[in-house]
Amino acid sequence: MGLRRGLCYFVGDPSMPELPEVETVARGLRRTILGRRIVSVRLGKTDFIDDPATLEQHLPGRQIEAVERYGKFMLLRLSAMKRSGRTTANGDAAPAALLVHLGMTGRIAPNPASQPCGKHTHACFVLDDDRELRYTDARRFGRLAYLQSAALEEELRFFGADPLEISTKEFIEQTRSRRARIKGLLLDQAFLRGVGNIYADESLWRAKIHPARPGASLSREQAAVLRRVLRDTLEKAIVLGGSSISDFLDADGEPGEFQLRHRAYGREGKNCFRCGATIRRAIVAGRSSYFCPKCQPSPRGFTPLPLPRRLAKPAGK
Ligand SMILES: [Zn+2]
Repeated sequence: MGLRRGLCYFVGDPSMPELPEVETVARGLRRTILGRRIVSVRLGKTDFIDDPATLEQHLPGRQIEAVERYGKFMLLRLSAMKRSGRTTANGDAAPAALLVHLGMTGRIAPNPASQPCGKHTHACFVLDDDRELRYTDARRFGRLAYLQSAALEEELRFFGADPLEISTKEFIEQTRSRRARIKGLLLDQAFLRGVGNIYADESLWRAKIHPARPGASLSREQAAVLRRVLRDTLEKAIVLGGSSISDFLDADGEPGEFQLRHRAYGREGKNCFRCGATIRRAIVAGRSSYFCPKCQPSPRGFTPLPLPRRLAKPAGK
């Protein structure tokens, strides 16, 4: 293991890290910082941090007891403060959590304290073993928040089920009771937490379901297949370290490999791996959506975007 322990997600398009990429980062942190105590906190720019003063005040002294992924963000579970012979009135006696959302360009990784801080390092958590957990974020679309139990509960209340855990029965019922387009439903964090544009398109291609179909139009069998392939796709992507659209690196500085398995996402104008038809793009639920017009029959009246000239094949091919 060298110094390239970057846990990084950096993309050139509006994709954000989704469940597999965040899970990859969380696994790296579990391997490297679990059980360490935060000694002190240094902050740079704080416009992406909820209440930075609270974070500076309450983190030092706490131990990192668990690193959890929740949807597309992480929770670093922190121990209660041990203050001998004193009771604390400010909640320090209770366990708390640090919420870490990587936004588009956030990365969080432990570094030797002796190593100079990289550009755009905006939060530095000094650990008790001569390392620092550093958060860098060029665009600062991420978020850090120190949350005590009530605030954390409030924060998590609006999120739906984890797509790796939802039961077939619940998925079928939830999907078929909604008139929204299935692509929009998959992206709706109140329905499922953690799915974004890439894995929604990949799952719909695998399930042969057009992204613009209303949830209620799916048969029970189609909904069951979609739940199964969604889970399979996410699990395979986790095994492969996520999708490196541009420069995603895992805990050991290795890129993810799932982008090599993309079957729909980003493949406009290319041939469908299943039937050879040309993959098309449309805006569904406000997002670019890639699909095969032959394997994923569209609902009535739906037209994809015209194929850009640079992607159109010569006539007869
Ligand atoms: Zn096809």
